[in-house]
Amino acid sequence: MEVLRHFSHEHPLIFNEERSYESEVYCSACGELVLGPRFSCMDCGFHLDKNCAEAPDVMNHPFHRKHNLELKASSPYDDGSPLCGFCNNICWNFLYHCSCNLDFHIKCAFLSYKVLKNDFRELQHLVPIISSEGHSRELEKAQCFACQKSLLDSVYISPDYAFHLHKKCLELPLEINHPCHRHHSLFLQFNSDHLPCQICQETQHEGLVYCCSICKFVLHTGCVSPPPIIEDPSTHEHPFTRCLKNLSFNCDACGTLGNYVSYNCLTCSLMVHKKCITLPRFIKSIWHDHPISHNYFVVDNECTTHDCGFCHEDVNMESGSYYCSKCKFIIHVNCALQDAR
Ligand SMILES: [Zn+2]
Ligand SMILES: [Zn+2]
Ligand SMILES: [Zn+2]
Ligand SMILES: [Zn+2]
Ligand SMILES: [Zn+2]
Ligand SMILES: [Zn+2]
Ligand SMILES: [Zn+2]
Ligand SMILES: [Zn+2]
Repeated sequence: MEVLRHFSHEHPLIFNEERSYESEVYCSACGELVLGPRFSCMDCGFHLDKNCAEAPDVMNHPFHRKHNLELKASSPYDDGSPLCGFCNNICWNFLYHCSCNLDFHIKCAFLSYKVLKNDFRELQHLVPIISSEGHSRELEKAQCFACQKSLLDSVYISPDYAFHLHKKCLELPLEINHPCHRHHSLFLQFNSDHLPCQICQETQHEGLVYCCSICKFVLHTGCVSPPPIIEDPSTHEHPFTRCLKNLSFNCDACGTLGNYVSYNCLTCSLMVHKKCITLPRFIKSIWHDHPISHNYFVVDNECTTHDCGFCHEDVNMESGSYYCSKCKFIIHVNCALQDAR
């Protein structure tokens, strides 16, 4: 008779190979119906299925390299329920926990491990891959745990229906070397420090990001590799070429600072933010009667005042602004965009 002493229960648990046919029993660790072998305390009606009973007390998960995760029999929080980082559902029963406020179902923690280790071709036989072209209510709400984006119109997997992962996110490398952070590798990790992406400045609180935890440097999975060339003939006649470098620059289109990713027009010697490539050539501002035009620099020997028509701070004539040449009216790009009609 195999006996198990488990931290979650005061009495020894007895191994039982057979499925219980007299009554349905549920695993206290994962909450699911026990179909296979289990460890039970019959007096208390306490059961653990074999997988949960053998789950290690401490787990080192590749998506959280900083700390070990500890197996807990109940919520470690005084108030509020722990949400699983993979499936986003409440952990009602046992959970893996880290003091960074990361929590995972046992099942989700192990499945994600498996997904990581398996080759995708091998996984295809184990999990459904669904192309979500048809809309459904459920699908609209569901998101990929890695990038936190919708599953609509994409291919994804749902290992054992526990959580969802885009095919493209499944294929993300666990470790990358990135030209914007050259002295350390970046690892695919939960963003437990809640750091903003260095490229787009937005913070993705849940899901995975590329991270150097030594330098607290974070990039979104979607921001790691912006398009190498952007062409938009409606705003500029030449293509812009990407440059990724740990470098600050003054954007020639809007006159404010940029970091890490610049787009360059070699023909015109311009260096701009990605978002500034598509600045409209003309806009109508509530601060001026005429349409004002975007310029990378303003050469006007008669123009003497360089005060922004909105904030009244100085406008640098050597970088981009919106300008009405008839009235010598000048305004910062960001000021003009605030109230553009
Ligand atoms: Zn008992
Ligand atoms: Zn879960
Ligand atoms: Zn941690
Ligand atoms: Zn994704
Ligand atoms: Zn980003
Ligand atoms: Zn670093
Ligand atoms: Zn800019
Ligand atoms: Zn004017």
